[in-house]
Amino acid sequence: MHLVNTIRQLSWLLYAGHHTLHIQRHRAHIISKRVSLVTAVFSILTPLWIIVDALMFPWPIWGALALLRILSSAAFWGLTRVHNHRRSLQTAFLMLGVMLAIPPIFYLVSQPLLAGLPSDDLAQIAVKSYALLPFIVVAGLSVFPLTLLEVLIASIAVIAAITIGMLPHPHVSLGDLIISGWMLLLVIGVSALAGMTQLHYMITLINQAAMDLLTGAFTRRSGEETLDLQFRISMRTETPLTVLFVDIDNFKSINDGYGHESGDDSLRNTAALLQKCLRQSDILIRWGGEEFLIILPSTGQEGATQVLLRLAAQGLGQRPDGRQITVSVGVAERMVDDCEDWDQLVNLADQRMYLSKAAGKNRSTGFDAQTSLETLIPVT
Ligand code: GH3
Ligand code: MG
Ligand code: MG
Repeated sequence: MHLVNTIRQLSWLLYAGHHTLHIQRHRAHIISKRVSLVTAVFSILTPLWIIVDALMFPWPIWGALALLRILSSAAFWGLTRVHNHRRSLQTAFLMLGVMLAIPPIFYLVSQPLLAGLPSDDLAQIAVKSYALLPFIVVAGLSVFPLTLLEVLIASIAVIAAITIGMLPHPHVSLGDLIISGWMLLLVIGVSALAGMTQLHYMITLINQAAMDLLTGAFTRRSGEETLDLQFRISMRTETPLTVLFVDIDNFKSINDGYGHESGDDSLRNTAALLQKCLRQSDILIRWGGEEFLIILPSTGQEGATQVLLRLAAQGLGQRPDGRQITVSVGVAERMVDDCEDWDQLVNLADQRMYLSKAAGKNRSTGFDAQTSLETLIPVT
């Protein structure tokens, strides 16, 4: 299990396909914020360099460069004005892409302007420094929490820009090419490592804040955030969304009879067994002490019944006295129950859980009065 987890977490650093919604949203937030910060700095630094250009290059070359710099600065400034309130990863990547595109475009447009300069001039030093722009872009990737695949895609785009910039200069020596290529590879490697390290750090922090230490389920706070998001997705896509409110029966007697430690062990075990009955896209939240909320996205009555049957068939572990742990469940579904917001959905499930308690515990009460979900069959 440990190895499986390690491999899964490693795969999260390589590509983003399996990132949870939680990670996606935080990453979108961090990337957008950093783009705003970096572009704010560059919108000031870029025009300041006009002074250096004016000292190094003859007129009208430095004038043309100054115009380019002012346009770049305006583009950078424009990016600082974009606010990614909805924490969309698409918007974050769009912002990052535009930011990264500005220096290579600057590079490509400035190349023909600088090409005609005398080769033994002081200006050549400045020309060479302009050729470093693509390296700066790739190095700049290192401040973002990116996967290996994302760094590679961005790097390939930059390499393409450099190649296009070199096409008019077929006289570039093979030695120069090898040195530049080697250096670029090194910078890409360092950037990829830095990006993945940041991503790993970010995921660890998010998971620590989002996961309940005892049970490994989501905490109530992060669970509410996920629930809010799932509710909105369900509304937009007009797909069902079911929640199960699960409360362990007579849990207090475990604590009273066998101590708090035993209670903790039972709770941990039951949470693991609940998780085992769920799909990867389902979400287990520790809602309160011995209460759990299970979110079943894109799931209606039929799917919810299957989950309950799986729970009943598998069982939820043993009490210290050897008897089976049982739960009382309340089920609610957004569409059938016509809920306006997730609060209402959870409240309904909670009320139905109490109906299950009142009816004798170890059972579930469903969202459709006519076909109320029957008793959870305990494993004997
Ligand atoms: P019911 O069937 O009506 O749900 O009875 P119950 O005993 O499960 O419910 P009650 O709400 O009376 O008690 C819940 C108990 O859960 C009380 C509390 O001490 C215990 N509990 C809550 N959180 C934890 C925890 O983290 N560890 C342990 N060991 N016990 C906990
Ligand atoms: Mg209870
Ligand atoms: Mg309770």
